[in-house]
Amino acid sequence: MTGWENVRYLSGFTGSNGALFIGRDGNARLATDGRYLVQAAAESPDLDVIESRRPAPGLVASCRDAGQSAIGIEAAHVTLAQVRGLHTAADDGVTLVETDGVVEALRAVKDAEEIAALRRACEITDAAFSDVVLKLSPGVTERQVADRLYSAMRAAGAEAAAFDPIVGFGPHSAIPHHQPTDRELGRGDLVKTDFGARYDGYHADLTRTVVLGPAAHWQRELHAQVAGIQQDCRAAATPGALPSQLDTQASDAITAAGYRPAHGLGHGVGLQIHEDPFLTPSSTAGELAPGMVITIEPGIYLEGRGGVRIEDTGVVTAAGFDPLTTVTRDLLEL
Ligand code: ZN
Ligand code: ZN
Repeated sequence: MTGWENVRYLSGFTGSNGALFIGRDGNARLATDGRYLVQAAAESPDLDVIESRRPAPGLVASCRDAGQSAIGIEAAHVTLAQVRGLHTAADDGVTLVETDGVVEALRAVKDAEEIAALRRACEITDAAFSDVVLKLSPGVTERQVADRLYSAMRAAGAEAAAFDPIVGFGPHSAIPHHQPTDRELGRGDLVKTDFGARYDGYHADLTRTVVLGPAAHWQRELHAQVAGIQQDCRAAATPGALPSQLDTQASDAITAAGYRPAHGLGHGVGLQIHEDPFLTPSSTAGELAPGMVITIEPGIYLEGRGGVRIEDTGVVTAAGFDPLTTVTRDLLEL
């Protein structure tokens, strides 16, 4: 394993430069460079830790010397140059076999400890929303709101932001992944915020769209349409549902309302902000299962006017989708 989230997931090691080998017999070996040796021994006390300036080739060479005949390599986490280095290290003594999504599939189902971390990340995110978005006033800029969200999350215990907050006022709310600018908030603007906290390595993802001042009829209507689609998709996100079909349900509803679907319905959330299972048209993810943590985030965007997205992070349980982000989905008029 060389994907750091996968290394962390299986070994507990949180350093940024490491490679992990796990044998069929459960025998495991972690390679890292000299900066992380003490940390690796502390975080992964049950593993053999070897020092190597280039952990992945170092680990392959060490496995070759130990008589290993074949090693799986995570195809998604190496560059062509790194593959060359791995072949050089293997030196025809060990066969390298490509693997795809093996650990990601394990990671898709969260255990109780992971769900607790995700729940905390979502609680911090909810608190930041209430602290910042509910207190917006005219004249504040998108950049200032993004900074305030970041500070509020840090103050509430986040180790970092899950990603750079997206804050869009007025027509900017129609740009799905808008980068905050110096635009000032004006009366009648839709305000779309998409942000989340990271806690103990786990991410949260929340989008709400509110309006400054009384909502215009079209804003109310747009928000109600998205809220209805989001509610229906949450209700359908039960064990056994197919992620690609959930996406189709959302895009069909958006199309039926007279609009063009702009992005997928959602994604898994965990050690990465976007991970398996993906709720997209081309998703090959299997049926949803209890313990999966996903987002449900339909949006409708009217270019030049404004857009609405409503997004929750939640856990799939036997009883259905249980939202971990819980702030109101009603159209707030600030
Ligand atoms: Zn989001
Ligand atoms: Zn998302």
